[in-house]
Amino acid sequence: MDTDDTPETFQLHDDQARRRSARVAVAVLALGAVGLGGCALSPAGSGELREDDAGQAVDELRTGLRVPGVPSDSDSAEEPTVLHRVSTDDPVVFVTLDDGTHPDPQALDLVREQDMPVSLFLNEDPVRRHGDYFAQYLALGDHVHSHTRTHPDLTTLGTDAQTDEICGMAEVLDETYGATGQVGPLARTPYGASDESTLRAAESCGIEHLIHWSVVAEDGGLSYALGDGLRPGDIVLAHFTPGLAEDLEAVRDAADEAELEVARLEDYVPAE
Ligand SMILES: [Zn+2]
Repeated sequence: MDTDDTPETFQLHDDQARRRSARVAVAVLALGAVGLGGCALSPAGSGELREDDAGQAVDELRTGLRVPGVPSDSDSAEEPTVLHRVSTDDPVVFVTLDDGTHPDPQALDLVREQDMPVSLFLNEDPVRRHGDYFAQYLALGDHVHSHTRTHPDLTTLGTDAQTDEICGMAEVLDETYGATGQVGPLARTPYGASDESTLRAAESCGIEHLIHWSVVAEDGGLSYALGDGLRPGDIVLAHFTPGLAEDLEAVRDAADEAELEVARLEDYVPAE
């Protein structure tokens, strides 16, 4: 018997176990997000998190969805990309806050006291109702981006209606916060759902990237698409709920444990 087989075999099993674990984690992420009443993970037209042959997380997923009829060699210019994570070796993670339904004052206090950069992906009604609340995040240097006007599943809509949702919301943000220069060129699709028309619609108003996520913060804990802790480049999704401050504390604690800093997404995913 060749004793060298033992560690090799163990390693194989370990990799397989990790892959299984990752698949389970993805399923948990999807299930966890479904219950948020906001942004759920949908496979429709989205890039997927995966591991490479060594069982390591793929650092960057830029899934440029193809628009039918457009030659594939033309996709390097304006076509928006879909990002689940950011490709970086820096010890950083990113925090994104969605919808805006509940303007939680404790969350605002926390990001101010912790000096925690966040990126806001907002819908129209919350901006109309709580515009002054979000303005306080912009005063801290944060940016706002389109999360559509009414939070539909975009894949149920045609290109014109998707354009109204994505670009119409960007216009609302421009009208409300344009003077700050902190209305960003990013967008997030509700439920992470997008199709070819989404790319066409987003491109028509200069959206550079569709930002998805690799980690969900909710109910005071984190759910990971891959692995069991924060990794450099992770994008954390949280929502403006009454529990947001606790969710942000969980992010801070997990970042501390992984020796990572929360950085500003717009510094790493700038306009091109
Ligand atoms: Zn949402």
